[in-house]
Amino acid sequence: MSTPRVLGYAARARGRPLEPLEYGLPTPGEHDVCVAVTHCGVCHSDIHAVDDYYGVTDYPFVPGHEIVGHVTAVGRAVSGLKEGDRVGVGWQGRSCMQCEWCLKGEEQLCLDIVRSGTWVPYGGFSSSVVVDGRFAYPLPPAMPPEAAAVLMCAGLAVYSPLSEYLTGSPQKVAVVGVGGLGHLAIQFAHALGCEVTAISSRPEKAAEALAFGADRFIDSRDEADLRRAELVYDLLLCTASGGIEWGALLKSLRKRGTLLLVGFPDVAFNSTDLVAHELTVSGSFLGDRATMRAMLGFAQEHGIAPEVELMPMSQVNEAIRRVRENEARYRIVLVNETASRAATV
Ligand SMILES: [Zn+2]
Ligand SMILES: [Zn+2]
Repeated sequence: MSTPRVLGYAARARGRPLEPLEYGLPTPGEHDVCVAVTHCGVCHSDIHAVDDYYGVTDYPFVPGHEIVGHVTAVGRAVSGLKEGDRVGVGWQGRSCMQCEWCLKGEEQLCLDIVRSGTWVPYGGFSSSVVVDGRFAYPLPPAMPPEAAAVLMCAGLAVYSPLSEYLTGSPQKVAVVGVGGLGHLAIQFAHALGCEVTAISSRPEKAAEALAFGADRFIDSRDEADLRRAELVYDLLLCTASGGIEWGALLKSLRKRGTLLLVGFPDVAFNSTDLVAHELTVSGSFLGDRATMRAMLGFAQEHGIAPEVELMPMSQVNEAIRRVRENEARYRIVLVNETASRAATV
């Protein structure tokens, strides 16, 4: 039997535009499923990986890890999924299932994380992917595919730390950055019962931030406004990727407050407030499988949905340009034309 062919969009070298690339579908293992991609979101991590920002990219590199599609084949050890099922797949497409973190159910910390990405060997800017069936999630039937796609990475990335850190009494949260991650973080934090402040250097986003559920908006370039927020927040969730005034931000945390990074900004701050106020600085990477399932249910229950622009997958380079230049409002999802044509036949 000949190997099924996949049409993907690949960067052939660091920072290069993506080009069409045809390759054989990787041979699925017994735990794997093949998923025909109908939608795939464009995440900043895709672009970082094209640019080899993390130092682990193999070329040709097919990005894409906010996937919605249909199962087309299942390995014999897969349970709970069958051909035709609609599923979502996020950044993590597999894990070693043997290291201490996998055994604890915290697969996002797998010691073999570099090889756990859905884009290894080829990602979702393509007609099909092969992933471990344990990382393909059935979706709520009423959830639109483009919304589900974005939730698979951006949704999990913000829901996981919010649900973990926000326990007990009502808390004051500031979401730093009102972009792809930030606009979802505001919605989740609001639905989790927090008092939410959106902090951004783009005052034109104020009205939308309030519409997403923020109680207040602070223009981060307005020093007086930031000073009024001194010692206010229990949690600062930083979704921004740059342009951050760390000193002023840390002063807005209550004593023993937490700064939590979910993006990858350059970080530099004076240790004085950190020590004297007993602050915690932490990172959060996606979430585990149980949290992914909880996030999907919570989003459906509370009507949480990303703002999405749809573009055909063949326009992937234009989509990447728009994300690079911060023009996406708030997330771009690529629609696989091959899949939608097949669906209408
Ligand atoms: Zn992502
Ligand atoms: Zn592992």
